[in-house]
Amino acid sequence: MAEYDYDLFVIGGGSGGVRAARMAAQTGARVALAEESRLGGTCVIRGCVPKKLMVFASQGAAQISDAQAFGWEARAGDFDWARFHPRLREELDRLEGVYRKLLDGSEVEIFDSRAVIADPHTVRLDDDGTVSAKHILVAVGGYPVRPEIENADLGLVSDDMFLLEELPKSLLIVGGGYIACEFACIMRNLGVEVTIYARGAQILKGFDDEARGLLSEAMKQCGIDVHTGTTLTEMCRAEDAPSGPRPTGSDATMGAPAGDDEAAATDAPGPDPKATGPIWTQASNGVEKVFDHVLFATGRRASTDGMGLEEAGVTLQRNGSIVVDAYSQTNVPSIYAIGDVTDRVPLTPVAIREGMAFVDTVFKGEPTPVDHALIPSAVFTQPELGTVGMTEDEAAEQGPIEVYATSFRPMNKAFIDSHSRVLMKLVVCAETRRVLGCHIVAPDAGELIQMIGVAIKMGATKEDFDRTCAVHPTISEEMMTMRAPARTT
Ligand code: NDP
Repeated sequence: MAEYDYDLFVIGGGSGGVRAARMAAQTGARVALAEESRLGGTCVIRGCVPKKLMVFASQGAAQISDAQAFGWEARAGDFDWARFHPRLREELDRLEGVYRKLLDGSEVEIFDSRAVIADPHTVRLDDDGTVSAKHILVAVGGYPVRPEIENADLGLVSDDMFLLEELPKSLLIVGGGYIACEFACIMRNLGVEVTIYARGAQILKGFDDEARGLLSEAMKQCGIDVHTGTTLTEMCRAEDAPSGPRPTGSDATMGAPAGDDEAAATDAPGPDPKATGPIWTQASNGVEKVFDHVLFATGRRASTDGMGLEEAGVTLQRNGSIVVDAYSQTNVPSIYAIGDVTDRVPLTPVAIREGMAFVDTVFKGEPTPVDHALIPSAVFTQPELGTVGMTEDEAAEQGPIEVYATSFRPMNKAFIDSHSRVLMKLVVCAETRRVLGCHIVAPDAGELIQMIGVAIKMGATKEDFDRTCAVHPTISEEMMTMRAPARTT
């Protein structure tokens, strides 16, 4: 009789956990997976996938307006969220079904239940008692957090944005990162009045400064009210506002002294996203405004609370994420962790690669460290921001560099006299000539950066770009034709 019920028990049915479970099962291992919510996890159910579908939906008005300018008789009406939303739900149901089928097809046993670690080889399931496993893989991801401000539970988080029964007229987004900027563009382009309060001097900290600047301008041009260096200091239901209810919308601004009430940080459940009700807010600059909704896009935290990890001896970081080595192994040899719960690079494709490297290491006997270098990624704003490698500032800290950059109006935008600009930028090591970083702000920058990522991962030099023939007429050909550096440092 086998020593354990399973060779592998995976906790968490997101992209990383599902891939690891399937790949391990294909080696002949006996594998089970528990998911307390919906298979597919953050990416499929409340992240990348529904977000991207909302991006597609939100592009309609601009496409129609461009078409008009090109000569089409076309007119955009209002966006009908009530038509889009049920289709979105259906699509997510379909994808969840695909994930279940994939697991079934790989003979992974699925437990639709919360699972916690009872000891290094035992998992406790909500309804099914305990099971034992030779290896446990924790792939439970993370959850969005609200800042420490009184009444923060009145604000929405990204999960809630996919559950809205109707579009708000006005939305305040707190935060200036990926999620803040993506939802700002989506909502604005769906017709919502959007305001951003970002506490930093510029949005998208960590990205290339030039790209951040151009994107911020583009967001302002499309009507997003971006306030940097600004935080939310107070919020409450409009009817409870210090001097009575206020009208919603942009004309509801008034000056007032800032308050300093703060309460405990909260990952407490937020409001029912279906229940709309105006929220009175006060910003650090004293401005008071009422919004239909406030969205907190202020970062995420690993879902390790109550998981039994510390009791089993697993070391966590101060932010709750799990400490792992290059093979995703924790300090407890039978327990591994992958994906956002480890707070390495919180992106879906990275979690998937970590899952596959884990399977190679543990089930195929091929120790495989995870390669986290030169990961291309995109922010799905409008226009998109695609990036791979170092920013100009990061590269300059390491030694002499050359910067090749060009910003221009693409031909389709120039034709219709639109002000939209794109940015193409290469950061090159002056000594080795290797391209250290590439940054693109343009429509479909996510698609472009994926391809350029291959060249940069292979160690392409600036001269490799130069000797690659341009595809004409395209936006990306400019990347091959930048002859003189814009600056050297
Ligand atoms: P980010 O870390 O990108 O952004 C968090 C933002 O919230 C920052 O602007 C931060 O400011 C601000 N912030 C944090 N705490 C507070 C506070 N108490 N008060 C006010 N502002 C605050 O997190 P996101 O939640 O946007 O995204 C999480 C991760 O998910 C990303 O890092 C990314 O890896 C992943 N993701 C990827 C996407 C993609 O690939 N397209 C899309 C969405 C998410 P400051 O910068 O000053 O610290």
